[in-house]
Amino acid sequence: MRRLTVLAAAAALCLVGAGCASVAQWARETATPTATAPEGEGEPPIWRDSEAVGVPWDGALRAGVRLPAEGEHHITWDPVLRTVGNRPGRRWATDTTIRATLEIAEAHRRAHPGAPRMTVGDLSRRDGGDFGVRFGAPGHASHQNGLDVDVYYPRADGRERAADHVGQIDRALAQDLVDRFLARGAAVVFVSRETGLRGPPGRVQYIPHHDRHLHARFGPLRGP
Ligand SMILES: [Zn+2]
Repeated sequence: MRRLTVLAAAAALCLVGAGCASVAQWARETATPTATAPEGEGEPPIWRDSEAVGVPWDGALRAGVRLPAEGEHHITWDPVLRTVGNRPGRRWATDTTIRATLEIAEAHRRAHPGAPRMTVGDLSRRDGGDFGVRFGAPGHASHQNGLDVDVYYPRADGRERAADHVGQIDRALAQDLVDRFLARGAAVVFVSRETGLRGPPGRVQYIPHHDRHLHARFGPLRGP
């Protein structure tokens, strides 16, 4: 509501001839991102049967479901802007990926009542497809068909935001998330070796640039 009021005020000022560019700038600065999602972004997902087309590195998403910007057991993180509350266009996946992600977040917190809410990063774009560097560095080679989800490791200090480096991670809570994604059917979970996180060979894979977040990939891994 506050954001709408700000925008309405900005529009009204534009109508009476004030400097629209500066008013728009003021509106942007006033609508400071906080842990509270913009109006409507916290609403429940609209469930429908989704289709993962192709493969995660060359695919598309049909009838995707959008993850709420935040909920009782999760928040979202914009990895480009480095803000809480990932942008709506970066939070789409298949219904099964969204359902699994929400269930893991809830089960993780029920098992660890003091844990921060699970911090979810990028999923896919609304229709899937390219999610490369033109959507913000460093971009994703995959995340194209609604089966990939990035989750930032819980911080040892309990803050609900991405860690800045591997030393800030609560390893026990992070391992719990890896275990839960595997148990919930993720085909593979990518982590960086320096995290010290473990799992069955082949299903937990070590790759660079995953020292602050895990990347879980659900099946099916082949499209129609
Ligand atoms: Zn990823």
